[in-house]
Amino acid sequence: MNQKFTKWSLRGKWIIAGFGLTLLLMGLVTFASFKNTTEIQQGANRVQHTYQTLNTLTDFSAAMTAAESARRGYIFLGNRQDLKRYQNEVTNMQSELRLLQKQIHPSLSQQQRFARLDSLVNQRLALLKQSIELYQKDETALQTQNNITERSVKLREEILPIMADIKAEEQSYLQNSLEQSDNSIRLRILIEILGTILSLIVIASLCATLDRQWIKREKIESLEVSLAQEKEFSELKIRLFSMISHEFRTPLSIILLSSQLLKEILKELVDELQLKNLYRIQSSAKLMNHLLTDILTLTRAEAGKLDYKPQLINVENFCLNLVEDLQLFGTTPHLIKFMNHGQCFRANLDEKLLYSILSNLLLNAIKYSFAGGKIYLILNSEAEAIVFQVIDEGIGIPPAEQEKIYEPLYRCQNVENIVGTGLGLAVVKKCVERHHGEIFVESAVGVGTTFTVKIPHKNLALV
Ligand code: ADP
Repeated sequence: MNQKFTKWSLRGKWIIAGFGLTLLLMGLVTFASFKNTTEIQQGANRVQHTYQTLNTLTDFSAAMTAAESARRGYIFLGNRQDLKRYQNEVTNMQSELRLLQKQIHPSLSQQQRFARLDSLVNQRLALLKQSIELYQKDETALQTQNNITERSVKLREEILPIMADIKAEEQSYLQNSLEQSDNSIRLRILIEILGTILSLIVIASLCATLDRQWIKREKIESLEVSLAQEKEFSELKIRLFSMISHEFRTPLSIILLSSQLLKEILKELVDELQLKNLYRIQSSAKLMNHLLTDILTLTRAEAGKLDYKPQLINVENFCLNLVEDLQLFGTTPHLIKFMNHGQCFRANLDEKLLYSILSNLLLNAIKYSFAGGKIYLILNSEAEAIVFQVIDEGIGIPPAEQEKIYEPLYRCQNVENIVGTGLGLAVVKKCVERHHGEIFVESAVGVGTTFTVKIPHKNLALV
């Protein structure tokens, strides 16, 4: 539950981080876009302003030409209508000039040009006024009027190039503003495309991460399910084997007990040779009992449920009893010699597991020995561990197979027709491991085998 919560909170963090990043990106794009829009807007305002300036310049020029032509109409043709038109156009000229002053670009060059234009225009207006006033006083002073016209034309010729320069510079500003607006629009498109692509990348990688996590989670869940199934199956296996061994053990005990009773009765009546079949029944029943114990031990060990209940036992007595017990095992009795080389008499060990270890090793030694071959069980005590050794002079184990002998059901190539299941050493290994001990084998084919089991003292309470 807790693990699940951690998994979810981890995924939650990823989602929040991803969406946070997307929001940040979108925020940045919006900000950049807003800034850019403002620039475009300002650019558009500048363009509009410049157009207005150019229009004012055109209007001013038109008013100036119209004022001049109205003046001429009045003084050369005496048309009163022209006087009125002249006055209107002069007013227009003046208002357009003031407007131009406001609109013209604030650069130094434009301001200087405007000052010059203003002065020339004022001079021209003064000349025109002088011409009108002269006409109203003396209509015949044509020579003077011609002089005034000549001077007015000269002023006009000075004014026109200044206006052309003003117009050219305003047009260049207009061009600049248009280019800037164009660039701003392109930049905005770029920012928006980039922002969208980046947001898509973040969202796509977020989706991919989520997908990966989802797959991982599904894998973990399916693993958990199969582990649970495996556990259930192994528990079922243990229950089944426990039941079978229990059901088999009862009749086996009856067989053993009855054969023992029979032996006691017949011992007096028949000679030893005739009891051979009875011994066979007894040893087969014992072997079967042993096999059942092995199967159950291995099943429990593989399910991680092998009981380990150490208690103080007299190891020497235990070994002596075991040797006596196994001496008669098999059809041809073997002499097993027990030796205690150390000072080890009592130790804290699990009796059942120790029985499985030593009985399997000794039964193997019996099974794989030639008739009359010597077998030793040696007990020793080292500084760090209690040591058991089972030595035989039997068929030996081929070197290439020595690593595999602890695998369940493994049997060496040289066993020929010696009966076995391949379970014994697997059981031994599990029982040794349960004691945190180690097992070693030294063997030579045709010479014999030595199994050494070391169980660390720190695992025991030596007395
Ligand atoms: P098995 O029932 O076959 O004896 P084990 O697991 O006890 O099964 O042993 C595995 C194999 O190791 C045996 O089949 C045999 O080939 C080899 N082996 C074990 N102990 C001895 C021994 N003392 N001498 C020779 N070979 C042995």
